[in-house]
Amino acid sequence: MANPAIYCADCGTECEQVTGREAGARDPDLIDAQVWACSLCPEAWAPCAADGAAIGLPAGPDTRNARAVLRERQVERLIGEALRQTPNGRAIAEERVASFLAHELRLPIAEAAVDRLDIEWCRRAWLALKGAAYADVVRHAQTYRPRKAA
Ligand SMILES: [Zn+2]
Repeated sequence: MANPAIYCADCGTECEQVTGREAGARDPDLIDAQVWACSLCPEAWAPCAADGAAIGLPAGPDTRNARAVLRERQVERLIGEALRQTPNGRAIAEERVASFLAHELRLPIAEAAVDRLDIEWCRRAWLALKGAAYADVVRHAQTYRPRKAA
């Protein structure tokens, strides 16, 4: 079965698989790899998973930079707080921060993944996380526990 269509986070154009070189990627690991790229936006791409799916949504340098800054300064700040208390707790901290962010943005958790956000959602995510402490994330996790099948 073909993968579902992938759309550029910046302009909404349907993307196609090309090599990293064709997409303008400079990362040596990506130059010869397949990426999903927008045919309209310059240097707008997303890495391609082994099964052919896009990892996140293709986006140009400004959006990719905004996502990286959001991840480093806010997401990793909260995870770092968690790790000071529980050094082995990265997986659960990542899951909790992702769930907290999705709730704050009122997006389904899959759409709130940082590598799917466009630049406007990056700004909203920044504002949502800016004043938050990991204690807020934990409180959210305790209040909105996902329902488990019995
Ligand atoms: Zn585009």
